[in-house]
Amino acid sequence: MAVAEAQRKRLDAARRMLEAGVHAMSACVRDADGETLGEAIIQIREAGIDPLEAAFAHGVRRFDRSGEYRADGALSLIAWLRWKCKLSGGAAMERVEIARQLEKLPQTQAAFANGELGFQHVAVIARAAEHVGAAAVRKDEANLLKAAETMDPGQFMTVAKNFEHRVDAAGALAEANRAYDRRYFHIGEPQDGLVRLDGVLDAEGGATLRTALSAFMKPVKDDARSYGQRSADALVELARQGSGGKRDGAGPRPQLIIRASLDTLAGIPGAPAGELEGGGTVPAETVQRYACDSAISRIIGQGELEHELQHASRTLPAPTRRALEARDRHCVFPGCTRPLNWCDGHHLVWWTRGGATALPNLALLCRPHHRMVHEEGWNLERTKDAHWKARPPVHRVPANARSA
Ligand SMILES: [Zn+2]
Ligand SMILES: [Zn+2]
Repeated sequence: MAVAEAQRKRLDAARRMLEAGVHAMSACVRDADGETLGEAIIQIREAGIDPLEAAFAHGVRRFDRSGEYRADGALSLIAWLRWKCKLSGGAAMERVEIARQLEKLPQTQAAFANGELGFQHVAVIARAAEHVGAAAVRKDEANLLKAAETMDPGQFMTVAKNFEHRVDAAGALAEANRAYDRRYFHIGEPQDGLVRLDGVLDAEGGATLRTALSAFMKPVKDDARSYGQRSADALVELARQGSGGKRDGAGPRPQLIIRASLDTLAGIPGAPAGELEGGGTVPAETVQRYACDSAISRIIGQGELEHELQHASRTLPAPTRRALEARDRHCVFPGCTRPLNWCDGHHLVWWTRGGATALPNLALLCRPHHRMVHEEGWNLERTKDAHWKARPPVHRVPANARSA
């Protein structure tokens, strides 16, 4: 009992010192500038987080062995870490694995404890040890640590994978096959106007997708989109062009099916929202954009409406589309040069407001700019001297107000 008491006292004292250190470092970060601030950020990891992770790993290893976590009713150490240390399952598993491997890798453990080695580098070494055995890693440990010193975790991962392959070609193949088996891709149901995607690809699939997306990723002049938004646009564009078939004079094949009433199309206040097949409801402005170029959408209603929509003159006849493409050549929004295959045929006087499907009333607009005109209230005009002018909306809706 006296021993436990003494240990408890020592822990309380250590905790107070740690808190004082954290407090002092927080104050430094708050007040420091320039080079000193950079140094402070480095020190937080080198003198704080990484050595503490090393101590954490040591503690986890001893706790693992003692089985003490069962006293709290947890069924496994990982479950206990998730519960008591607020870690995700993946983070808990990684730390337990590191804790188990570090014991057998004394040089790595020492470098970790004195801040020379970051947590992610240690995770890479621990994983290599898990795959090919700690004994094999120990033989090459000094070289691996030297590589870790100068490389970021991603580069170092490549070095570690090469090492694994050298040591155990069959094991490396089996591991690659295991990784491949974990691939999946999931498209969620629409919720509040958004569809969540998640998944993992094997390295080859990832590289293929990255290369395909990069063709659509280039920012345009004054591009306000974030990197993430450009990636999202590129993915959709890739799908659109991939499933659009060959581009002939008639343009791409419709890919969206929308159910909408005539009132919605006409933009009459109080009209119901449109309904996108497989995509939930969409606002009237969006339905009107879809209606602008029949090539991208098929609109269906009921009875009379159906008849009207089928026979409406919104369809761009092939010669008109070819003439439009020859005249505009790319998106006409000032400053934009996105090529034909990004573009819809936009009606300057909207088709839903009686605008004619004839060259003087048409313009090629890339999807993002087409959206700005219909859904964000921008105004596009063709001047007498055949230039294009875009005016921002009078009541501009800030992009971040939508989720507010
Ligand atoms: Zn339009
Ligand atoms: Zn554009």
